[in-house]
Amino acid sequence: MNNQLSDKINSVTPSATLEMAAKARELRGLGKDIIGLSLGEPDFNTPDYIKDAAIQAVKDGYNSYTPVDGYVALKDAIITKFKRDNNLTYERNQLVVSTGAKQALYNVAQVILNKGDEVILPCPYWVSYSDIVKLADGVPVEVPTSITTDFKMTPAQLESAITPKTKMLWYSSPCNPSGSIYSENELRALADVLQKHPQIIVVSDEIYEHINYGVTTHASMASFADMYDRTVTVNGVAKAFAMTGWRIGYIGAPAYIARACNKLQGQVTSGANCIAQRAVITALIESPSRVNYMVDEFKGRRTLILDLLNAIDGFKCNEPEGAFYVFPDVSAYFGKTLQGTAINNASEFAMYLLEKANVATVTGDAFGNKNCIRISYAASEKEIREAIARIEKVLV
Ligand code: PMP
Ligand code: GLU
Repeated sequence: MNNQLSDKINSVTPSATLEMAAKARELRGLGKDIIGLSLGEPDFNTPDYIKDAAIQAVKDGYNSYTPVDGYVALKDAIITKFKRDNNLTYERNQLVVSTGAKQALYNVAQVILNKGDEVILPCPYWVSYSDIVKLADGVPVEVPTSITTDFKMTPAQLESAITPKTKMLWYSSPCNPSGSIYSENELRALADVLQKHPQIIVVSDEIYEHINYGVTTHASMASFADMYDRTVTVNGVAKAFAMTGWRIGYIGAPAYIARACNKLQGQVTSGANCIAQRAVITALIESPSRVNYMVDEFKGRRTLILDLLNAIDGFKCNEPEGAFYVFPDVSAYFGKTLQGTAINNASEFAMYLLEKANVATVTGDAFGNKNCIRISYAASEKEIREAIARIEKVLV
């Protein structure tokens, strides 16, 4: 039978992060000693006080469908969190809880975009943004940045990327993959440009908010009064609370957008998992300082990996201020032959590291940057040391 798949799914690129993680798993299954630095997944256990809340929810008989947009008690916890951490005021009808921040982003794209609408993505961007936009028939418009601006988009770049078809701007801060954080002043300068273009909606992905190493204070676009009604704030518990597999994310948004996401979700998932939602109430109500021990650990690993990488000729790193990735520019290796293998681009470089050094990273292409690779340091110091030593060995 011919391939009966839709043009839409045929046009989608598989998630490079998940694909690389699967490849690493497969090679491990074949007996190879692979160090996985490809996936953005904390190597910590979910804290006990959150697990206990889930166990209690099971015992208390939470087993039914939840309201499509999330338990009221969870929405109230999200309201508390937004007020406490971001000075943002949301009402229940402005919130939607989803199966991960990924679904939250997917919902927003589906309810806002019409065919051909343009979405500005400052590069590097998180790997799934462009395909989520394409799945909604939108057109990703990549705005290249480089290490010289700490991978941040300038107001002038934003201005020149805007066309009459621009419908949205999407970014993450702290950024996956660069770790850059837009300061309040930098966001204000972008907001000033957007003032001239009232049709543009902003998606501010703040999922790494708590993984901040203290150089730049986290700021939310929606905290500007003139941006509040046109900003969707996306967050979730996967990263800061080591809850990737629990699959809970959420948005705070203008009520009409939340209502539309609710309608869509009602036809797609019927709502997020009930036990996970109960656990997240505890995660959000408790002080975020309870998970500082993970941030402190990531901070130490960041220093370690930067020291190790900066000692390698040919690796150029910015200093990530948040998240748990480094995004070194490795273009110095392009055009070279390493141990008999020609390296022409970042994909070939990442593949070379996997095959020759047994270290899994992700090519920058997947994030809209052709010169870099992404290395996750959500791994033990021992693994980081071993991985970088192996990388160094295959670069001569
Ligand atoms: N946004 C960014 C920037 C991410 O790195 C991720 C990674 N998972 C997500 C959203 C999706 O998060 P979740 O696991 O909650 O779907
Ligand atoms: N966000 C993580 C990453 O960038 C998890 C994988 C994914 O969802 O793509 O590696």
